[in-house]
Amino acid sequence: DQALALHGISKTYNAGRPNEVQVLRDVSVTLDRGEVVALVAPSGAGKSTLLHIAGLLDMPDTGDVQVDGMNMTRLGDDARTRARRDQIGFIYQFHHLLPEFTALENIVLPQLANGVGAAQARDRARLLLDRVGVAPRADHRPAALSGGEQQRVAFCRALANAPGLLLADEPTGNLDPTTSDQVFGALMDLVRETGLSALIATHNLELARRMDRVLRLEDGQVVG
Ligand code: ADP
Ligand code: ADP
Repeated sequence: DQALALHGISKTYNAGRPNEVQVLRDVSVTLDRGEVVALVAPSGAGKSTLLHIAGLLDMPDTGDVQVDGMNMTRLGDDARTRARRDQIGFIYQFHHLLPEFTALENIVLPQLANGVGAAQARDRARLLLDRVGVAPRADHRPAALSGGEQQRVAFCRALANAPGLLLADEPTGNLDPTTSDQVFGALMDLVRETGLSALIATHNLELARRMDRVLRLEDGQVVG
């Protein structure tokens, strides 16, 4: 039973033009449920492209994307949006929190959008903030938080609707090494406690070694 299965994914930008670049060539990747996998690649190798395709944010030229055993490739726009919202959490290098809302509200909002009641949404937001050690900062806006705290809140927001799959693109790449280590530890604890499956892109080989498996993206192909 697989959390994510990518089969035969290819992607070319600017096809047929002089600046054509084939980023992915027949890439296949599978993640078992509960598995945490590192994706290591030099800059420009296509890891953002691969994560965006896995996260249903971008379409491959060829190949299939399955999430939780469901083929997402031929879904219409509405179904794709719903699947993305319900089943997938996405984290970027930058937190992308809404600046005019508090930490707590940033985690409440995606739940309200999914039809969860306000009281229940607040309870879950507090629980998540507590797990990553940011509960005392719940009522602060992002600008009043440190970089590490902002990123911890972004993790909570990604998990607000209890997705089965987490996709992360250099989630601690913006932080200094010590903070990065701590924040990454908090993320891993959260992922393990909730039994999430995760594909986490990182340049940091130390961090990659703390995951179950390391995949390398080279010349448009994934090697184990
Ligand atoms: P990474 O995340 O590994 O740095 P990306 O997936 O962002 O790599 O990009 C891989 C390659 O594809 C790069 O050469 C990049 O410039 C190119 N690329 C990415 N997105 C686009 C796009 N929308 N249009 C054209 N080229 C792109
Ligand atoms: P990251 O820092 O995550 O690797 P990038 O800076 O490579 O991200 O890309 C950020 C965004 O810009 C992505 O959505 C990617 O698709 C787009 N992009 C990257 N390279 C190009 C490019 N050469 N032309 C157009 N869009 C690009």
